[in-house]
Parts: sequence; structure tokens; C-alpha cells
Amino acid sequence: MSGLRRGFKTWCENAAKGYRRDLGIPPTAALDPRRLAEYLKIVVWTPAQVPGLSHEDLRQLTVMAPDEWSAATLREGEHCLVILNDAHDVSRQNNTLAHEIGHIVLKHEPAKMFVTFDGLMMMSDYNEENEQEAICFAGAILVPREALVNLISSGATNSDAANYFNVSDALIRMRRNTTGIDIQAARRRGVWIP
Ligand SMILES: [Zn+2]
Repeated sequence: MSGLRRGFKTWCENAAKGYRRDLGIPPTAALDPRRLAEYLKIVVWTPAQVPGLSHEDLRQLTVMAPDEWSAATLREGEHCLVILNDAHDVSRQNNTLAHEIGHIVLKHEPAKMFVTFDGLMMMSDYNEENEQEAICFAGAILVPREALVNLISSGATNSDAANYFNVSDALIRMRRNTTGIDIQAARRRGVWIP
């Protein structure tokens, strides 16, 4: 995760704290991104809730090709709607939703977008820098650095932490790598890391 703007990671950690404060959640607690979406007035639908989506389309999205898409974000003026693929595990849905919230909060302009027949703008294809920012945002929002440090230093495994935050083991590993937590813990134990 190189190439992020200077200070961006810290900004994400502060956002993770700020949103928890706004929602009345302790700084080290798990945050359900659905609650965050609600707070930010972002509507979240499953494909089945999309009006006018035919049974055939729905089947295509959720049964035939569930892995081909994670979410679609639609925007009309200030209103945002995220359609989330609920055929995926909740842990994956959480990461997807937090990622899409990141694109919205960070006001990313998609490289490509198209307008649906009823005038909604459908986002797709953000540039690489925006993708990296949304990945960083989602990681910090779901798994704040300090909260993860507390868990890991109290002896929690990656899967304990994944269960606690309701995210995938892969996201916990990614957070351990990108936040320098393991280096910090080793230094605390007096292990020399050059
Ligand atoms: Zn993205």
C-alpha cells in the first residue's frame, strides 16, 4: 500500500475514531458498516430490493454470477445508494460496504460512469490511487489500529480478531502488515528488528 498521500493513513484512523464517537461506540469496538452507512445517509440495498429487477436478472446476479461483482454504487445528486451482493459472506460484505463508503466519503470521481435509464449515475472503475485509498479507509474503519494492537497483545489470534471485527482473516493479515503492529509488538518484547 505505497503511494498513499502523506498523512492519509492517520486521517483514516482518526475517521475510524470519529465515526465511533458519533455513533456512541467505544473506540476499540467493532463497527457495523451498515450503521455507518445509515449515519451518513447512504442507502444500502440487496439486489432483491432493487425495484424493477427481474427474477431472471436477480438470479443472474446472485446465483449464476455471485463472484463477478461485490457492490454497485449509484449516485443521484447528494443521494447515494449502494447495492451490496448479499450472496457473499457477511465478513466480505462488510469490507465491500466499508470500501464503497470510502469512495463516497472521499468524494472519488470514477474514471467511468454511466447513467441508468432512470437517471441514476452508476459508478465504476476508479483510478488506482482512489482504489488504494478506499482499501485503506475500509481497513481502518473496520479494524482500527489501536483496537487491533490491544487484541493482538492480549493474545488474540488472527481468526479471533476476524471474529471480533466481523471481517475476513485476510483483512486482519493485511492490517497487521500495513499498520506495522507486529514490528511494534516485537520491539515491546525487546526483539531487535533491523
Ligand atoms: Zn473501489
